[in-house]
Amino acid sequence: MVVVSLETGKVVEGGYKPSSDLDTHLELYRKYPQIGGVAHTHSTNAVAFAQAGMDIPALGTTHADCFYGDIPCTRELTKEEVESDYELNTGKVIIEEIEKRGYDVMSIPGIIVKNHGPFSWGSNADKAVYNAVVLDKVAEIDLKTLLLNKDAEMKQYILDKHYFGKHGPGASYGQK
Ligand SMILES: [Zn+2]
Repeated sequence: MVVVSLETGKVVEGGYKPSSDLDTHLELYRKYPQIGGVAHTHSTNAVAFAQAGMDIPALGTTHADCFYGDIPCTRELTKEEVESDYELNTGKVIIEEIEKRGYDVMSIPGIIVKNHGPFSWGSNADKAVYNAVVLDKVAEIDLKTLLLNKDAEMKQYILDKHYFGKHGPGASYGQK
């Protein structure tokens, strides 16, 4: 990995080229100081939802342990956005979707960009990667669930029980 400036994106330490998605990551770090790591993959199941233009719905407790609600799919980028400053505009479209829906960015630490794929984040790089793995796994489970029952759903109280069991002041899961 290389160290780059948050403001300019210029390399300040290291001999490698930063990710081609650098400007997307920088936009997220600048907007949300609580984000300490961003991960981006083209994992198959999450990309399937991105290509379908569908949110990854919260249908079970595996999802609820990590993501407090559906994982949103953004709108598609316009021709101008793609042709002018693609990576930066990808970051802007992600932020637009989060702000439009009005949720805490850390409560659903991932999103899928339409026709592209998932971006996830966390308080550090490890957590961002962990969330990328869970995001794809819940997308895989959802694909199978929706094949079996296209009307599958989960009640809000089950989502609450599992999410708040792992997050926030009342968390009871795991070791002290
Ligand atoms: Zn990509």
